[in-house]
Amino acid sequence: MAAVVIDGKIIAEQFRTELAKEVRQLAAATDVVPHLVAVLVGHDPASEVYVRNKERACQKAGLKSSVHRLPESATQQELLRLVRDLNQNGSVHGILVQLPLPRHIDAVKILDAVLPAKDVDCFHPENVGLLLQGRPRFLPCTPAGVMKLLEFCRIETAGRHAVVLGRSDIVGKPMAALLMQKGVDATVTVCHSRTREIAAVCRQADILIAAVGIAEFVKGDMIKPEAVVIDVGINRRGDRLVGDVDYNAASGIASAITPVPGGVGPMTIAMLLRNTLTAATL
Ligand code: NAP
Repeated sequence: MAAVVIDGKIIAEQFRTELAKEVRQLAAATDVVPHLVAVLVGHDPASEVYVRNKERACQKAGLKSSVHRLPESATQQELLRLVRDLNQNGSVHGILVQLPLPRHIDAVKILDAVLPAKDVDCFHPENVGLLLQGRPRFLPCTPAGVMKLLEFCRIETAGRHAVVLGRSDIVGKPMAALLMQKGVDATVTVCHSRTREIAAVCRQADILIAAVGIAEFVKGDMIKPEAVVIDVGINRRGDRLVGDVDYNAASGIASAITPVPGGVGPMTIAMLLRNTLTAATL
């Protein structure tokens, strides 16, 4: 039987509708409209698309959004100055520095400069620490989006073996952190480029989460029958996007699977909006 398709677009839309209601309630009670500011340096085409999508999602949910654009040639000091200005600006609740930054800029220094209370991407070490300790201020957007999909589809996590492919600070590490929290209770294995016998490890997964950034890395024979497969990958192949999972092969083996596009991606943006609303209430 073909796997159930986990439709992130529909789930994200429902989530955004609920969020829009909360945004209206906050505005009615306090006159505060959550305000997300994106900082975009240079003209990376993918970044332009991401920022535009985030702006649109904000507008639809009733949040205020604005974009600060700096030229590719902007210096580290100029960018730091902008981040510090935004930190001090009381009308700004969330700051998002769109990655990647030009190579002459130290991204870690810039991300560390964002005020933790406005760090809606949940990249600041203080927020990552709070998350690890199980008392998050913000949730990391992509992993939190994956958790929402699992929750929405009533996929049991307690005691199940979750295998996370990838250990990046943005996806793999926080994904593992969320899955191992008390209450979620998965048994978690994290794989990376030095993992041996990776196919055999994947075949043990009840829940397989792929975030390696390699098109169709996960083949059908790496999936346990009836596993839940979450594909975080976004890879360009010609003029279309493909995930990190061989979707056609996987959908004949898994019990449920996310498509690319239309799976995890829309949830990531929805979680960013949630964090911005949270920031406006801190
Ligand atoms: P990343 O920073 O490049 O990390 C990739 C991870 O995959 C690394 O930990 C790397 O291992 C591991 N890896 C690379 N080759 C491998 C191999 N042959 N075998 C096993 N592991 C391997 O990427 P990322 O930022 O986490 O993003 C991953 C994917 O998710 C990308 O396609 C990205 O576009 C996508 N993404 C999607 C969303 C969304 O909203 N849907 C959000 C963020 C990212 P090492 O640590 O050993 O190098």
